[in-house]
Amino acid sequence: MASSRAERAESIISAFAPRRRRQFAVRVAVFVVVNAGWAAFFLRATDRVGDDWLLTWGPWFGVVVCVVAAAHALNWRCPSCLASPGSYAEARFCQSCGVQIRPEPA
Ligand SMILES: [Zn+2]
Repeated sequence: MASSRAERAESIISAFAPRRRRQFAVRVAVFVVVNAGWAAFFLRATDRVGDDWLLTWGPWFGVVVCVVAAAHALNWRCPSCLASPGSYAEARFCQSCGVQIRPEPA
């Protein structure tokens, strides 16, 4: 039974690897969205853009925020317990269930 436990651990680690790669893109998107939000806030606060600009682009910005939040929620899950494995991208163990999600360092 020891080999099947090892195989299960191996399959969790290999199932998590593509999620971790995709999460890099999600983090870049979060960075862009947060900075675009601050930029829009300051553009409006300093009257460089008017209310029509905000009413035109605000709803689209909301859609993008929802898409990025959904991508994060769907992608950043532990393959074993389906909960968030924690906020630390380099963590080797799921913060929810404790299963190993990344291989030992070489
Ligand atoms: Zn877990």
